[in-house]
Amino acid sequence: MADLFDQLVGQEEVAHALRAHAERPVHAYLLVGGDSAVTELAALHLAAGLQCAENGCGHCEVCRLVLEGKHPDVDLHRSDGGNWPIDEIRAIGTESMLRPRQGSWHIEIVDHIERTVSGAASYAALLKVLEEPAERTVFILTADSLPEELVTIESRCVLIRLRSLSPDDLEKMLIHEGANSESARAAALSASGSLRRARIFLRDQGVVARLALWRGLPENIDGDISTAIDLVATVQAEIDSAIAILKKNHADELVTWRYNRDELKIRTESKEQIDSRQRRELRLFRVEELGFLLRILSEVYRSRMATLVELGRSNEVDARLRSAVAALERLALTGERLYETNIDEGALLTDLFVSLSRR
Ligand SMILES: [Zn+2]
Repeated sequence: MADLFDQLVGQEEVAHALRAHAERPVHAYLLVGGDSAVTELAALHLAAGLQCAENGCGHCEVCRLVLEGKHPDVDLHRSDGGNWPIDEIRAIGTESMLRPRQGSWHIEIVDHIERTVSGAASYAALLKVLEEPAERTVFILTADSLPEELVTIESRCVLIRLRSLSPDDLEKMLIHEGANSESARAAALSASGSLRRARIFLRDQGVVARLALWRGLPENIDGDISTAIDLVATVQAEIDSAIAILKKNHADELVTWRYNRDELKIRTESKEQIDSRQRRELRLFRVEELGFLLRILSEVYRSRMATLVELGRSNEVDARLRSAVAALERLALTGERLYETNIDEGALLTDLFVSLSRR
């Protein structure tokens, strides 16, 4: 019979392992790799499997509460992008001593430990927490990757590795989450393997229009700086309107967070953690959206090259091939610089559009 773990598309081995562990848990797990939204989903699935009377049926009230982050015996400590102070890690240890209130287990999910836990003292604090487990407590740690410093922590946990997602897997997951097949396909293709980004795209009616606009940009480039500045303004206005959807999500999230705190008395993140995570998500969205633009532009120049090659050799073709190669190099360099902190986005794009001038 289908259960919760079947929803982890493309992760059959992981699903098999989680299903077994939901019945006979050890006290600590480390879920590594894949896409960070999928890793978090797998952590919640394991938590639901542990609390559910049928070990993860996927449709009972207990499963629903865990998956929505509302179960009183499942604490989800989400990464806010920065390192946690050591007191935060000790506080997780103190919380982990609590007996379960309703469920069979008290579960502490600790997100992205390669980012949140940093420095020898913090590693030692987390190790101590893991080494002195309460009888009914299960830890589920996640990480995108496993740096060497985490080896000792890994050795205290059952390690479960997730695969990265193909666009087909992503499409299936989105359809499972309720998307229609056409928009699931478009979102999966635009999201470059990221479930989190694909989910944002699904709520974004403008993504198809943006794709067309990005594809048409090289047609308008003429080497003139004032044209480049106009194009940058167009690009930035498009990204600003796309980001409005994420801002709306953030506002909704705050409403839910207040309701959880005031009505359900559930403590999840602090207000500071939410603010800092939302800021990080906005920045990440911008960088990823610019990355999307650069990928589409690269596609345009690559297909231009393919067309030129078919024309056969001539001086003009050679010159245009060289300028397409230069454009691709320039796009790759711009892509590397996107992740620099405090980068001047406007200047970076203006430079790019001026340099892409030659046909
Ligand atoms: Zn259930």
